[in-house]
Amino acid sequence: MTTLSPTSTPAIVPRKKVNLLGLSRVQMEQFFEDLGEKKFRAQQVLKWIHHAGVIRIEDMSNLGKALRDKLLDIAEVRPPEIASQQDSSDGTRKWAIRVDGGGLVETVLIPSGNRATLCVSSQVGCSLDCSFCSTGKQGFERDLTAAEIIGQVWLAIKSYDAFGPGNNRVVSNVVMMGMGEPLLNFDNVVAAMDLMLEDLAYGLSKRRVTLSTSGVVPALDRLAGVSEVSLAVSLHAPNDELRNQLVPINRKYPIAVLLESCRNYMAAQSDKSRVVTIEYTLIRDVNDQVTHARELVELLRDTPCKVNLIPFNAFAQSDYRRPSGNAVQRFWQVLVDAGYIVTVRTTRGDDIDAACGQLVGQVVDRTRRSERYRAADDAQLITVG
Ligand code: SF4
Repeated sequence: MTTLSPTSTPAIVPRKKVNLLGLSRVQMEQFFEDLGEKKFRAQQVLKWIHHAGVIRIEDMSNLGKALRDKLLDIAEVRPPEIASQQDSSDGTRKWAIRVDGGGLVETVLIPSGNRATLCVSSQVGCSLDCSFCSTGKQGFERDLTAAEIIGQVWLAIKSYDAFGPGNNRVVSNVVMMGMGEPLLNFDNVVAAMDLMLEDLAYGLSKRRVTLSTSGVVPALDRLAGVSEVSLAVSLHAPNDELRNQLVPINRKYPIAVLLESCRNYMAAQSDKSRVVTIEYTLIRDVNDQVTHARELVELLRDTPCKVNLIPFNAFAQSDYRRPSGNAVQRFWQVLVDAGYIVTVRTTRGDDIDAACGQLVGQVVDRTRRSERYRAADDAQLITVG
């Protein structure tokens, strides 16, 4: 005789809904095709989300009730949450953004004349441990999803209530320079950048979207085949010995390999007049001497570029110090005399830094990478002294 064990009800695992916010045009079209719907539904939904700022599927009135009901069952449009917001007297606005799992990242909008640049994060934390970077010291938590990346753009526009026709564009430029190394989150970053450039979403020109990398060479080579966004590279040193200390990934992909990859990326662009932005954080008595500047002049000879100098901002866990104004001036002069276009980052949003640090807590970006947005600003030449 067979003994039956008591039957137990199987646990119901809730189906995860697709977050339509992070789907590129191609992905959205595929999504609707898989549902047996026409492609133009993808265009309608993209416009609702990114042009009109509508995230309630119930409110997407031109989809028809049957399709809306079907979507409500399997999909959602869910931006990350704003944990806090700070406004500076100079117009800079910073958000601490809470993502699934509770992690916090920072997004910053920096207005300047008739443009406004949004600095966007790509990861919670970072695994690369650059020696001058607070984020790197806190380790890596996880990649952001495409929805969490493009959601930062969506939230910035929403916070000014600026969706819809007739509103001035709140975000004119985007720089992938917030927390994380964007090329280590390749697929999600590329999908989000596609939406930044997509006319059915944010419609920014490829010159106005910049990816900043510390030098993940294989991913940069791969990017050349799929994207035409502007490129910024965190160099920070004129030779491998010094860069190995400051940017440890240099031990894997040394400067010569990185610069070759940059040249290849620029060569692959349809517009041959574009150049790579070289970011160089000046740290007192580490890499801010005239000899370093001269070495940099020689190093960059064959790479079409402009240089963005970033005086280091000290933070508690770091022994590094800010360079003197004279050192910055001297460094700048050597590069300018050699014919380079050189910008020096100015400080923005100073009055909200402390509060922002409190809000974001352990993940605050004290290197203020967000302000390197100026690297992407073609027109600005800021002199020191
Ligand atoms: S500087 Fe950028 S790549 Fe380096 S540790 Fe910080 S976030 Fe990561």
